[in-house]
Amino acid sequence: MPTLIEHLSRSKTALLAELAHDVSDRRVLEAIARVPRERFVPEELRSSAYENRPLPIGQGQTISQPLIVALMTQGLALQGDEKVLEVGTGSGYQTALLSHLAAWVVSVERVPELAERAGRLLAELGYANVSAYVAGETLGWPQEGPYDAIIVTAAAPRVPHELVAQLTLGGRMVVPVGSRDVQELVRVVNSPEGPALTNLGPCRFVPLLGPGAW
Ligand code: SAH
Repeated sequence: MPTLIEHLSRSKTALLAELAHDVSDRRVLEAIARVPRERFVPEELRSSAYENRPLPIGQGQTISQPLIVALMTQGLALQGDEKVLEVGTGSGYQTALLSHLAAWVVSVERVPELAERAGRLLAELGYANVSAYVAGETLGWPQEGPYDAIIVTAAAPRVPHELVAQLTLGGRMVVPVGSRDVQELVRVVNSPEGPALTNLGPCRFVPLLGPGAW
């Protein structure tokens, strides 16, 4: 029987090989290799941390499937010098990836228990270029914007104009848009002529709740 550490190491290598078929941004794959996903899932699911599927994280929420996380992150086209906003901290896993890929990460979460847990874990793991907040009255976090990139990790009924307004000119946003059950991943570029939209494929997310959302 392999130990848990051996099992995690092998399953992480296998997951990275699988992701490499669909993800071409090497920096994204390197960040996935560096972040210990097993620390962001509940203890009893630790051995499943590198399976390519979403996992429950409590409060009715989920840590997203690694392939979707990788494709969304790739869609932000990060070079390393950006300020990034994440809407939906959840476990903090996506936040940790962004911390490796950008200069500064602001992440907001509407469930205070999740925000606190993720904030504690990110600090414990030494992610110092991250600010994690409990979401306020407005969608996103306009007080520290504008952002070069925004990632929304919950499903919106439409492209939220409140978030487009928090993007720099040329800024990128990736957001799942659709019904409460099934959505399309939409990539938005805030160009001088207005937001330009492309479709990155189907996905399923928990709903984005509150002002500007469901
Ligand atoms: N990125 C997360 C996945 C989060 S699941 C991870 O890597 O684990 C989506 C999260 O969005 C949930 O925790 C949910 O509570 C949160 N959420 C939903 N609506 C929100 C809103 N309006 N503002 C901030 N967070 C929101």
